[in-house]
Amino acid sequence: MPASRAPETVFDRCLLVGECLEWQGAIRSDGYGSVGFNSIHRKPHHVAFAVSYGFSLDEMRVFTKELGLYVMHTCDNRRCINPCHLILGTASDNAADRSIKGRSRSRQGGCSGRAKLTEESARSILSDQRPTRDIASEHCVSMSTVQRIRNGSQWSHLVKEESNSNY
Ligand SMILES: [Zn+2]
Repeated sequence: MPASRAPETVFDRCLLVGECLEWQGAIRSDGYGSVGFNSIHRKPHHVAFAVSYGFSLDEMRVFTKELGLYVMHTCDNRRCINPCHLILGTASDNAADRSIKGRSRSRQGGCSGRAKLTEESARSILSDQRPTRDIASEHCVSMSTVQRIRNGSQWSHLVKEESNSNY
């Protein structure tokens, strides 16, 4: 009986690009790699995380499938399996991370100061049903600003418009 391939072998199939170890095997349409172990397809960066931090592949599956955790890339390179670039986080970490990175790419410098809200973004905050934290992070404002907009102590004319439109 052939020995099943050891998870460590993911590191034999990557290439050093800058500081990233880019996966050289199959890449799925979403940009993440794919690798089979014991006839189950896994993401190579999950496997690399498991190997490096002492978890079994089954434990990784529990983390990501049952506990809803994500293995996130600090380098933003989906093909990267460098364990130094991988952290375990929650779904909202993942969303916040993505919006922070998206913003810093488009604006350079990112979320340093407090952003000036435009009427347009105040409007979108008002109609946004997501948790305060997610909205604050997306618009680069504090959570209390989001709350003030929602309870009408800021941009109150928008709140009135909103409630008028309900009639
Ligand atoms: Zn990387």
